[in-house]
Amino acid sequence: MKQILVLNSGSSSIKYELFDMDAGRALESGLVERIGEGESCLKQTLPASTPKSPSQSRSIDVAVPDHRQGMDLIRRALSENASFAGGEHLVGIGHRAVHGGETFSGPTLIDDHVLQAIQALVPLAPLHHPANLIGMEVARSAFPDVPQVAVFDTAYHQTLPPYAYRYAVPQDWYQRYGLRRYGFHGTSHAYVAKQVARHLGRPLTDVNTVVFHLGNGASVTAIRGGISVDTSMGLTPLEGLVMGTRCGDLDPAILIQMGKQSGISLDQMDGVLNKQSGLKGLCGANDMREVLAREAAGDQAAALAVEMFVYRIKKYMGAYHAVLGRLDAVAFTAGIGEHSAEIRARSCSNLGSFGIAIDPALNAAVEPPIGEIQTADSRVKVLVVSTDEEFEIAEQTLACVQPAGR
Ligand code: ADP
Repeated sequence: MKQILVLNSGSSSIKYELFDMDAGRALESGLVERIGEGESCLKQTLPASTPKSPSQSRSIDVAVPDHRQGMDLIRRALSENASFAGGEHLVGIGHRAVHGGETFSGPTLIDDHVLQAIQALVPLAPLHHPANLIGMEVARSAFPDVPQVAVFDTAYHQTLPPYAYRYAVPQDWYQRYGLRRYGFHGTSHAYVAKQVARHLGRPLTDVNTVVFHLGNGASVTAIRGGISVDTSMGLTPLEGLVMGTRCGDLDPAILIQMGKQSGISLDQMDGVLNKQSGLKGLCGANDMREVLAREAAGDQAAALAVEMFVYRIKKYMGAYHAVLGRLDAVAFTAGIGEHSAEIRARSCSNLGSFGIAIDPALNAAVEPPIGEIQTADSRVKVLVVSTDEEFEIAEQTLACVQPAGR
């Protein structure tokens, strides 16, 4: 049995998931949270042994002063799992890494040089990279004999052509400061595009898909034959769709104007645009379930927030349809994309002239992990796909470590 452990390290948490790659299923998942905050805890979930039995969870309160001890705790928790035992089946560890800049265009075996190269990218992701790096370092010392792989959220989008990734600002901004579109959620977009092709029974290289990843953060990618050719997030995850708390597309002059008129600092602006904007800024709630409930109860601000959310989706649908020329499939994924039939229906309304039409009954009844919801005469397939970023990281990790012959 080949096992892969996937780790996602944040500033105060480490999430983990252990996969049996032969069976293609998770054996255990969990997280250590509130590291260094006094009241840390370990949460562990063992998946259901049969489709009808419940999964088992437990939560243990335990002091975890730093990531190193958090990693030790995870290793001890795993060794209590009979399938993991002494870790003899563990062939690789995959680390989620947020930003690969232009340095990393695929999964990369971690060594000292790679860690240095990731360190050099900290200015591009100052909030996330230090935590990602700590996670890699502590996992390397906890599992010194297991190859470790970094899987970057940006890597999938390194195939964008320059006319899609450059901004129309002086060249110097790109050459000296690396200011360009990198795109994010790449692991999810890559996974969903593969699932769509597999579901349609066609080679990935033959299918053109627009994938809408609609979670708290939201992005859309135009995928031609499995290759990302444009994506809505940019230098940072702020650009593109309206999100839970992020503004998405904006006239950049607004920042200049606000700076001049209100005296708000750049750091404050960063906070407002990332954490106080989007649905939250428009109506006070960032959770789409709550926004929809408020709209249903007659709240005008919530109604406008939903209208703006779906209108922005529709604009990207048209834009990326034009980018791809021939569009075979539209896929909805992540929290909102997978669970909100209403948002899917409103996002695809009146798109008959684009060959896109949703069947209301199929849209309401679609089941995970994947299903089609278009009408019989819709030229474009519309699918709802459960994303699984951890499994995609595990697959990419396995592909990266296998040549080593373990
Ligand atoms: P994250 O980006 O944090 O991983 P998720 O992919 O979990 O986010 O998506 C979170 C979003 O999904 C929230 O806005 C939540 O309200 C929304 N969501 C989850 N279930 C539903 C539902 N049944 N209807 C509408 N929105 C939903």
